Amino acid sequence: MKQTELKKIELAVQTILETVGEDIKRPGLKETPARVARMYAEIFASVKQTEFTDYKMFKTDSENDLVIVKEIPFYSMCEHHLLPFWGTVSVGYVPKAGQIIGLSKIARLVDYVAKRPSVQERLTSQIVTELDKILRPGGIAVEVKARHMCMEMRGIQKTGSETVTAAFSGGLKNAVAKSEFQQRLAL
Ligand SMILES: [Zn+2]
Repeated sequence: MKQTELKKIELAVQTILETVGEDIKRPGLKETPARVARMYAEIFASVKQTEFTDYKMFKTDSENDLVIVKEIPFYSMCEHHLLPFWGTVSVGYVPKAGQIIGLSKIARLVDYVAKRPSVQERLTSQIVTELDKILRPGGIAVEVKARHMCMEMRGIQKTGSETVTAAFSGGLKNAVAKSEFQQRLAL
């Protein structure tokens, strides 16, 4: 992010703090606007990135086997309140033509999708869409479990409760495949 853009965020944060009645000159807050600006540049890094290209494919002999990657941690920001929602992403896919993707690259993809203001449902379906583009597999299943600060901090929902979302594509859309995916996740 450019210096001028960081400065803009800094001024906006200053305005918010002043408006809620804070003394922005007190020592604890002096560096806060600049710090928040740098943090936003980091946690919203994907907004200006138009494509996910950071991946490599590998060959495997086993075809039609369900590949499962369990509980990749993620951190994102709810677009309605700009508060964190965070949890884990589990992915299942059926490789086609022996093509698989490196595990660390799936984690990168999750990061790419998460580093923007979002909602859990869209985050879930975007992971399916991106993996579909990269892998062109027989099918994809994604399950996301997350806690939402905007619900917990504001006392709408009980602390610690998780929201679960799932999205499927291709051959993993049918009920049998879905339940195999769920069973494998539970192992
Ligand atoms: Zn929210």
